[in-house]
Amino acid sequence: MSQDFFHEGDLVGVLTAQPLDRLLDYKAPEGGCWLGAFVEVPLGPRKVLGVVWGPGQGNFDIAKVRSVIRVLDVAPMREEMRLFLGKVADYTLTPMSAMLRLATRAPGLGDAPSMRKVYRLGDADPDRLTDARAKVLEVLRDYGGLSFTLGELAEMAGVSTSVVKGLVKQGAVSEEDTPRDTPYPALDPDYGGKILTKDQAAGAAVLRDGVRSGRYGTTLLKGVTGSGKTEVYLEAVAECLRQGRQALVLLPEIALTSEFITRVEARFGMKPAEWHSGVTLTERRRCWKMVGQGAAQMVVGARSALYLPFRNLGLIVVDEEHDTSYKQEDGVVYNARDMAVLRASLNDAQVVLASATPSLESWANVEAGKYRRLDLTSRFGAAVMPDMRAIDMRVEDVPQGRWISPTLQEGIAARIARGEQALVFLNRRGYAPVTICRACGHQIGCDHCDARMVEHRFLKRLMCHQCGETKPMPEACPSCEAEGKLAPVGPGVERISEEVAALFPDARVAVLSSDLFGSARALKEKIEEIAKGEADIIIGTQLVAKGHNFPLLTLVGVIDADLGLQGSDLRAAERTFQLMRQVAGRAGRAETPGEALLQTYQPEHPVIRAILSGDEESFWAAEAAERKAAGVPPYGRMAGIVLSSPDVQAVFDLGGEMARRDGPLRRIGAQVFGPAPAPIARIRGRHRVRLLVKAEKGAPLQAALAEWAGQFRLPNNLRLQIDIDPQSFY
Ligand code: ADP
Ligand code: ZN
Repeated sequence: MSQDFFHEGDLVGVLTAQPLDRLLDYKAPEGGCWLGAFVEVPLGPRKVLGVVWGPGQGNFDIAKVRSVIRVLDVAPMREEMRLFLGKVADYTLTPMSAMLRLATRAPGLGDAPSMRKVYRLGDADPDRLTDARAKVLEVLRDYGGLSFTLGELAEMAGVSTSVVKGLVKQGAVSEEDTPRDTPYPALDPDYGGKILTKDQAAGAAVLRDGVRSGRYGTTLLKGVTGSGKTEVYLEAVAECLRQGRQALVLLPEIALTSEFITRVEARFGMKPAEWHSGVTLTERRRCWKMVGQGAAQMVVGARSALYLPFRNLGLIVVDEEHDTSYKQEDGVVYNARDMAVLRASLNDAQVVLASATPSLESWANVEAGKYRRLDLTSRFGAAVMPDMRAIDMRVEDVPQGRWISPTLQEGIAARIARGEQALVFLNRRGYAPVTICRACGHQIGCDHCDARMVEHRFLKRLMCHQCGETKPMPEACPSCEAEGKLAPVGPGVERISEEVAALFPDARVAVLSSDLFGSARALKEKIEEIAKGEADIIIGTQLVAKGHNFPLLTLVGVIDADLGLQGSDLRAAERTFQLMRQVAGRAGRAETPGEALLQTYQPEHPVIRAILSGDEESFWAAEAAERKAAGVPPYGRMAGIVLSSPDVQAVFDLGGEMARRDGPLRRIGAQVFGPAPAPIARIRGRHRVRLLVKAEKGAPLQAALAEWAGQFRLPNNLRLQIDIDPQSFY
């Protein structure tokens, strides 16, 4: 049995977030410490955060080993969490120090709990009861024993803070200090459930049983947009709360959180905890600490919420599980969907993967019997999947520099004449993807990347979508210096909005593209306006494909359905299929049936045909067969290796050497391809070369990769990044 408690002076091995590849030995402090304790330790002249990971190694002169400075006042890291971090590290070939950083992404964890003042009803009566004072006392009486901050109380009573302070002086309101990191209000699982349809109720019952079993299990919850997946999985959350366990719901996009939080509040009476980049630092710390104490029952968050120190996690929901934003591409490279399954299996928890268009991985796991599958086949209420048709662009008469076909134009006109909304979809931000000089043919590129600059007219600048660099639109061509010859080529949403304005001068037009909004709040307000009907035509990028409700929307027109099919990406077909189905699913959510029109130059392409026919099972079966034949994921294993450096020679030299010395990989039957310039051969001034490793499904790929990569010394400034199960090739 491993030792769980260390007495003062015992040697302990501490994991820190410093980039060292080993544990450090310290002596347990006065009072001892538990395995998993968060501690502060001296490192050189500094104090750093660490976790007691096990007994010390004792390889150093015991006289020189220093003591742990103090044990932090937070719950020790639980055994399943330590296991989880270790397994993610092994799977993704990430150093443990980086894993610990991921698991402690909240500021001031070691600080003493700071205090704040709260106000509640006092014992005395005020000497004079003005209207304003009466309002304050009324609020406090209405809410029984609850206390509020000064700002909250003044706002709820509709008075100035000085009124409250006056009451404090007289003892009618009492002022107390309480810790800032307070528990989240209790959620009531029986507060506001809806009456479910037969389908939904059956699905909810299965999920509830899973949660009640107290064992691990994963369910794919598949249903078209609007079929009530959210309603159904909230029933699983309710059951989890009844069991006294914690629930985590992951969403792919922060922009979706506030709409979702409102639904949670309507269902459970109170708001859940939130964890994502839009949350303030103090709120993050509160969330982290309360989750660890079991004083937050439900967390709604982004993928990094998986690394919160849950005390008793019973359920993880991954909403829109196919979404590519679950794959972290920077720093620790992991897929949150897969890691959610891993975490749940270590916690005896259930996973629900919800999607209208599941990933092929999840589909294959169902086929292999690893996941359960639940289908919600119809939309809630009268709504049905829209009628889907292709517009064959080869026979449409579209003038040069225009992208909306006469057929699509007619369709839009008919809808808005009836007071309905139309969505014009193009997954390209900005005005035009390419700016070319008509005199010399030069295309304006980014100075730091191997990418073209995209014109953003709204911002009046050119922007690189790789590194974010912007510059003003030049008057003259940077190459031949001809003036007034620079011309936009191809459409972005901003350009389409010009065309729409010209075709429909009387329509109210709204453009939804992530770069047009300064904040998540501004975007949310715009979305709410549109939902209320304050626009006739919406022009949007993939932002609109993700879960927003537009009840008046009945027509979706896709400008370029072929866009995602270009390029060599393994998942091009899958992505296009998912995106087109998601976008089409926006039409006709309420009572009016919808219509989706896809402009395409290749209506006979198998992917386009599958999208139109809606025959998903055949599409997946065909896609699965192709990938099986090619031995690629999810039927084979892959790893992408990207070498990057400012020095182009260095990356090719090392890449070549790695390809030659591939012994450890050959021993497991894996193959190495490359080195080749990455599809984007330069980003932020760094040249990029990639190798691709392919292995059979059961091969011990990680161990072989670690041994292989460990043979090489990396020159200064050269970075090697390994991406297991790469999602995209860039
Ligand atoms: P999905 O998550 O599959 O897109 P939602 O759960 O968001 O679907 O449901 C779509 C809409 O229909 C939501 O406004 C939801 O509140 C409503 N809805 C779904 N099921 C019911 C039900 N049984 N009773 C009342 N409203 C429902
Ligand atoms: Zn750039």
